[in-house]
Amino acid sequence: MYNIVFMGKSGSGKGTQINLMIKNGYHKISIGDILRNEIAKDTSLGKSVKKLLEKGKLISDDLVIKLLSKELDNHKTGIIFDGFPRTLNQAKKLEKILKKKNIKLDCVIEIDTPDSVILDRIRERYTCKKCGASYNKKGVQPKKEGICDVCGGKEFITRQDDEINVVKTRLKDYKKTSKDILNYYKKIELLYIVSGASGSQTETNEQVETVLRIINLKNELAKFH
Ligand code: AMP
Repeated sequence: MYNIVFMGKSGSGKGTQINLMIKNGYHKISIGDILRNEIAKDTSLGKSVKKLLEKGKLISDDLVIKLLSKELDNHKTGIIFDGFPRTLNQAKKLEKILKKKNIKLDCVIEIDTPDSVILDRIRERYTCKKCGASYNKKGVQPKKEGICDVCGGKEFITRQDDEINVVKTRLKDYKKTSKDILNYYKKIELLYIVSGASGSQTETNEQVETVLRIINLKNELAKFH
């Protein structure tokens, strides 16, 4: 198993691909998940970041690095970094932390999905209020209309941070900050870009699997040097 940074705009289909990898034994580190958990538990950390998350704004690099470093004490391989790094500074700090902890970053996969595909998808997305299971008006729906497959809940909501304006802010932020990060990973030959334009998880997954085969071949070749 490899250590992989997954990049992509909010709604790019990155989460779906990561879930497929988790089924294969990968472990995901998501700062967003950690923060949402803190907010749900109403801890002091949760209280301090709640507003930023609701607005779709990034939290400070220092705090993010601290949370990440703690997570890396429990995992050494098969790690997926989800939604991290989001700034060039975070990318550079990640390299340092990984070196210190003797962890190798094998590749960076960006899922490149057009804004129009993302906005359409998000407009159709809704979740169960009780357990957060996700559905789509044009895609996966509860098997029994109005009743959540997972927990039986009957109330559904649109994720507050999914509101279109917040998503547009996120898309803008991603474009601004990802450029430098992607260039950085391109220069050190870790970057692979797969297309999410078709909206088909199978097609995107085939490309992700191809990247993993390339990494495997590269590692095999390196043994001869
Ligand atoms: P996500 O679930 O990855 O979309 O993250 C949700 C929210 O958590 C983001 O909009 C930010 O407010 C915060 N967040 C997550 N990861 C980071 C990060 N690497 N740097 C700064 N803020 C982050």
